[in-house]
Amino acid sequence: MPVHDFKSQRLFVDAPMASGAAVELDRGQAHYLISVLRMKDGAGIRVFNGRDGEWQAVLSMTGRKSGALQLVEQTRPQPPAADLVYCFAPLKQARLDYMVQKAVEMGAGALQPVLTQYTQNQRINLERMRANAIEAAEQCSILSVPECREAVPLDALLSGWEKDRALIVADEAAEENNPLAPLARLRGRPLGLLIGPEGGFSGSERETIAAMAQAVTISLGPRILRADTAAVAALTVLQAACGDW
Ligand code: SAH
Repeated sequence: MPVHDFKSQRLFVDAPMASGAAVELDRGQAHYLISVLRMKDGAGIRVFNGRDGEWQAVLSMTGRKSGALQLVEQTRPQPPAADLVYCFAPLKQARLDYMVQKAVEMGAGALQPVLTQYTQNQRINLERMRANAIEAAEQCSILSVPECREAVPLDALLSGWEKDRALIVADEAAEENNPLAPLARLRGRPLGLLIGPEGGFSGSERETIAAMAQAVTISLGPRILRADTAAVAALTVLQAACGDW
């Protein structure tokens, strides 16, 4: 993997980026840079907007608690977005925060909440999901922040699923214990992954999934994992067997 400057701070700013451009900091960003990180006038920081790659920027203070960033030069070009749709039943908030952050770190390209029969948390806070996705991208030097989609019922997700995109479904009831062989056959295909809720999938949901041509059901071993653990485990085997590792 190419070595980047991982030590310097990174900040997501939703503004167009070009050499010489200035980006006004909003209150939250100014507070973070000036009061939390204690950056001084002229200090450097890396910034990205999810579209224009990564930029070296310099803080210019415009007041005691306000400032702007002057963009100096692009330090990394924008990579293509990961073509991996990560579908998951929302969990209770703390586990959901964790799961969203880990999914971004693991290379999800889009985050798709799905409401299943046994989903306990039917409400999802998209703002919070996006904030978690941005935070993970900032920390892990990821330049394309995954798209955060509105929640959809499982049957709508499955009936509208793209023809060519394989849907890998993690299910503890899968017959074969080892996921590597079925995953290896998916190399080169656009991918999606579906992780169920803490209550698992219902019988009728399993039937609908089994009838789908694009679905590939995998096991993650002989132990039942909690959904957030299953997410990381599934993304790991998937990325290694047929993803971008
Ligand atoms: N309700 C079930 C467990 C669900 S675990 C029970 O108690 O029996 C939550 C989700 O994690 C599942 O829907 C599945 O997507 C995933 N998962 C957990 N353990 C798994 C395993 N061993 N293999 C495949 N998927 C698993």
